[in-house]
Amino acid sequence: SLTERLSSTFKNLRGKGRLTEADIDATAREIRRALLDADVAVPAVRQFIKQVKERALGEEVSEALNPAQQVVKIVQSELEEILGGETRTLQLAKTPPTVIMLVGLQGAGKTTLAGKLSKHLKQEGHAPMLVAADLQRPNAVKQLQVNGERAGVHVFAPHPGVSSEHEDPTGDPVEVAKAGLEEAKNRQHDVVIIDTAGRLGVDQELMQQASDIRAATNPDEVLFVIDAMIGQDAVATAQAFNEGVGFTGVVLSKMDGDARGGAALSVKYITGKPIMYASTGEGLGDFEVFHPDRMASRILDMGDVLSLIEQAERTIDKSSAERMAQKFADQEDFTLEDFLEQMQQLKKMGSMKKMLMMMPGAQGMKKQLEQFDDSQVNRIEAIIQSMTPYERNVPKAINGSRRARIAAGSGVHVSEVNTLLERFREAQKMMKKMAAGGGMPGMPGMPG
Ligand code: GDP
Ligand code: MG
Repeated sequence: SLTERLSSTFKNLRGKGRLTEADIDATAREIRRALLDADVAVPAVRQFIKQVKERALGEEVSEALNPAQQVVKIVQSELEEILGGETRTLQLAKTPPTVIMLVGLQGAGKTTLAGKLSKHLKQEGHAPMLVAADLQRPNAVKQLQVNGERAGVHVFAPHPGVSSEHEDPTGDPVEVAKAGLEEAKNRQHDVVIIDTAGRLGVDQELMQQASDIRAATNPDEVLFVIDAMIGQDAVATAQAFNEGVGFTGVVLSKMDGDARGGAALSVKYITGKPIMYASTGEGLGDFEVFHPDRMASRILDMGDVLSLIEQAERTIDKSSAERMAQKFADQEDFTLEDFLEQMQQLKKMGSMKKMLMMMPGAQGMKKQLEQFDDSQVNRIEAIIQSMTPYERNVPKAINGSRRARIAAGSGVHVSEVNTLLERFREAQKMMKKMAAGGGMPGMPGMPG
């Protein structure tokens, strides 16, 4: 992966006292290769390397940073720059409703995004509505209705109540979009998201239809949704949509896949349009506001701790987090009850691996992460549940005979109980550190 390649490049620089021009050239070559392997568009790579080299050569040799740190810093800030610099927020209409139109190839993730974005906007206090203007694909209307229902938002569809197999193939998406907009005004929604049709490839008729919808609805934002996995095709596709329909922002979808860096690095450079959101899975909550600085860190494997914390805040039950904070404040002991609660909260976050992969140094823990699955959490749960309340609150009291009883009660071997207690002690230590203001510790309860 791009991240791995870059990490090993930087490793070679470690321990060097001084950065020579030859070092910079060699490093630039490595970075170039890594970026191309990650499907970053060629012109974007060229520009990127040029800037990194110029800065690396021009930079004063810092006493505080070693050469490797210096190059990492330059690469990080240039990555941030090429990814768009600042996060751009949604352009809201002066007179509501704000109209957001989604465009992109078939399968890019538009309809899925419509659900995610509407849920996100709802959480931000808006009253969004969806409009199903994709009459091309069988089932498209139904799919949007399902997503809207899950997100708890109203969906305007051309044939309410009629099963999608019987959609009128001659329905006019432009008329549907206009009618949807009218309905949004009548119902006083402040944001309208229009889902449109895509094709497998770039297609003149499709572009015309999207242009017509754009002209008829005058959207405040046209979001181009692009599958982050499509590699070098990203360039041609982005260019075609930029010229054919035009768009104001980009959404990278399927960022949960392998090709993390490539498309992200290319699209902004090619079109000059900011990346605004990232889609990271099939679930309604797999959605993030795109932060160029965090993405740059993620690419460089410094870990995306901020996104992680935000995701945790959204998912973790607030009262539980507050209770934990209060415990720290009162300098109370971290007990097995708390440990269990933490594990259960982690499980709630859905894909644990995905989350842990965002932690700093995750590359080094890859093996352990691959071994980790939710069934381990289930076993931990079973073991702790076999303990008495006294044992959970005073773990020190769990002696040999208690361990044997707990093992028998939860159907595991005594050694598993021992391992759990060991892990718990480590977690306890970490929590103490955090309470003392040590900041974000590693994830407690990780298998060692
Ligand atoms: P559309 O044709 O542009 O409307 O694309 P859809 O929203 O129908 O998505 C196409 C497929 O990709 C569906 O199976 C989605 O579940 C899936 N999908 C969409 N976004 C993501 C994502 O961020 N990650 C993953 N893994 N799958 C996604
Ligand atoms: Mg769709």
